[in-house]
Amino acid sequence: MGKQKQQSRRLVLVPCPYQGHINPMLQLGTVLHSRGFSITIAHTIFNSPDPQNHPDFSFLPMPDGLSADRGLIYVDLVANSKVINENCKESFQQFLEQLLQNETRGETISCVISDELMFFAEDVAINLKLPSIILRTTSAATSFARSGLIRLKAEGLLHSHDSLSNELVPELNPLRFKDLPFTLTSSQDKFLVIVSKVYGNRASSAIIWNTTNGLEQSALEQIQQQSQVPIFAIGPLHMMAPSNSSSLIKEDRSCLTWLDKQPHRSVIYVSSLGSIASLSEKEVTETAWGLANSKQAFLWVIRPGSVHGSDWIELLPKGFHDAVGDKGCIVRWAPQKEVLAHPAVGGFWSHCGWNSTLESIAEGVPMICKPCFSDQRVNARYVSYVWRVGLELEELKREEIERAVRRLILHDEGKEMREGAKELKQKIEASAREGGSSYDSLNELVNFIMSF
Ligand code: UDP
Repeated sequence: MGKQKQQSRRLVLVPCPYQGHINPMLQLGTVLHSRGFSITIAHTIFNSPDPQNHPDFSFLPMPDGLSADRGLIYVDLVANSKVINENCKESFQQFLEQLLQNETRGETISCVISDELMFFAEDVAINLKLPSIILRTTSAATSFARSGLIRLKAEGLLHSHDSLSNELVPELNPLRFKDLPFTLTSSQDKFLVIVSKVYGNRASSAIIWNTTNGLEQSALEQIQQQSQVPIFAIGPLHMMAPSNSSSLIKEDRSCLTWLDKQPHRSVIYVSSLGSIASLSEKEVTETAWGLANSKQAFLWVIRPGSVHGSDWIELLPKGFHDAVGDKGCIVRWAPQKEVLAHPAVGGFWSHCGWNSTLESIAEGVPMICKPCFSDQRVNARYVSYVWRVGLELEELKREEIERAVRRLILHDEGKEMREGAKELKQKIEASAREGGSSYDSLNELVNFIMSF
């Protein structure tokens, strides 16, 4: 298949405006651009990606009805996705109609690829008789768990079980009730409405998944058996083509120089919140003393505004900086993939967002798992219990944190997890290489798009 032929084919990509969704969608853009497609990113003005970081793409900003009020937006993804879906539809439709008129000038729109939450984009594509494909940015296991929520609700099991229960969920082994992927901000009923929309019958003709057979073969096979449309598991997307940063916050690269000075595998990288979660003052205090008391070197990302009641690190406890001295480095936002690839990093304390989980495994870095909400809980269970490349941190208490860091960085147990993580890394590298499952799946996806 000639590259020339694809050059005149444009793909319109529609990310959901959160870091954990934007990253894989822009990585997908890079992967497909490297296969010869032209790429347009249709995005909300809120959390807009920086076009300068992606000179090969065209960008279409869409008025979203949210941009005026950042505070509210960050927290409630369910409510926000409703507002975005209501507000972006019209401008997206006008934009696509215009592109279709220009088709006579030699460029065709092959299809629209939208985040699973951006329903409006799928609707508009179908209205205009354009092929539509969904991108799922969570693990396949999360999809099972979320579909399972609807059954559990109908069977009354959600009602009868404490959301913190350690009991196994029927038919969702190995998940416990406390691993179920609920959000914190919306009511259960509102969340289930979205879940049934996301996983119900969709009009799209395929699903792209940022996961790999190397990690989730059996879940993917089951999903494919139940699916009416082809599934293309082509992840981890960040490994499939080198892509530019799509960070919404400026990365502080000085931490790489600090890492250069640390001994091999000695540092715990702490990014325990990702782009959305937050901490109370008490939790940040416990975290700070847990890290200090572990006496291990740490690189800690504290996102601006993520500690309640402060702009950044004003609420760190008195005496903490003196106690840690040069052993600690704190940044607002890190170049995470480079940090995880750095030889000084011996472990990653993570909230287990799916991108962070994939990035850690891709570098063979073992984890401390402390999920905050949603799919992070499912991912944490898989990392610690199924893949056995991480340990679970039950509570944000300084003694527990100290113990977890020392277990991971110093003890044999941590060494075994590192070995396990290295094996998983090799497995997913093999799936991304020529002849591997993600590589083959990507070729099939390209052929599929070419067949439209
Ligand atoms: N990230 C980053 N620098 C940081 C913290 C996070 O670049 O200091 C990136 C990380 O590499 C990942 C994304 O932000 O790609 C977070 O996505 P994830 O799915 O892990 O979590 P979410 O933010 O959606 O909870």
